[in-house]
Amino acid sequence: MASKVHLTFLGTGDQIPSRARNHTSILLEFNDENILIDCGEGTQRQFRKAGLNPCKVTRILITHWHGDHVLGIPGLLSTLASSGYNKTLFIYGPKGTKEKIKKVLEVFNFYKSYEINVEEIGSGVFYSGKNFFLEAEDMEHGIPALAYSFSETGNIRIDKEKLKKSGLPEGPLLQKLKEGKDVVHDGKKFKSKDLIYKENDKKISVVLDTKINKNILPLIKNSDVFICEGTYSDELKKEAEEHLHMTVKQAAEVAKKGKVKRLILTHVGGRHSKDMKGLLDEATSVFSETTIARDLDEVEI
Ligand SMILES: [Zn+2]
Ligand SMILES: [Zn+2]
Repeated sequence: MASKVHLTFLGTGDQIPSRARNHTSILLEFNDENILIDCGEGTQRQFRKAGLNPCKVTRILITHWHGDHVLGIPGLLSTLASSGYNKTLFIYGPKGTKEKIKKVLEVFNFYKSYEINVEEIGSGVFYSGKNFFLEAEDMEHGIPALAYSFSETGNIRIDKEKLKKSGLPEGPLLQKLKEGKDVVHDGKKFKSKDLIYKENDKKISVVLDTKINKNILPLIKNSDVFICEGTYSDELKKEAEEHLHMTVKQAAEVAKKGKVKRLILTHVGGRHSKDMKGLLDEATSVFSETTIARDLDEVEI
């Protein structure tokens, strides 16, 4: 069975949290990895509300250093220290992240029982793990900002039906087929490419605060789930541009061009709280497979 990717929207609000929406944070679970994308204020309590343990976090990906995306970092790091976290915590972010984490640790001065490895990254693949890799792309938001994607690289499997028909018995030769090598059994040749298949790759991309720009499309292309900011309606396009944000219509247009399977809007503008349907209609008129995330929503693919 292929591994599942499990997403939890820990916070879906914009600059100012509301009763219904906490500051932005998304957790991506895959095998032993618990990857947190942004960590707005209150994120560690959102973990508890979702029945999740913040101490399982393995990596934190920071989109940019605006308060609504990072104010939860000191609290989370402090809790990890008090909870005996004993792994290395990997933190990735745009230029300036090393200095900022250093300052956070200076200001709060808690006993640190674990290592923190901070990497400042730019465009491209910045981490390759078992069966997945992480990629970043530069965004335009007035300060260094990144968007991220997670890609699972599917396993090579034997097609059991075809194997049965071929007459090749199960055994160590199957491993060779998986490695792409043709094999000979009882004088008969079996071609690897006839008997194997590759599991579908999965891709999740996250584009938060940014002005619409040319780097978005290549990053989100063919995503199973494209998560994008939903801060502004099209009516406020000018304001969105001034504040270096996208509108939901622009998000939907990119989703359509990028042939993604579904678009999930988050970082939802508080000003639209009374007309969520209007905001959603705007997006679905361009790209029908769109939803607006709520706090603690979960998605599994
Ligand atoms: Zn924001
Ligand atoms: Zn921002």
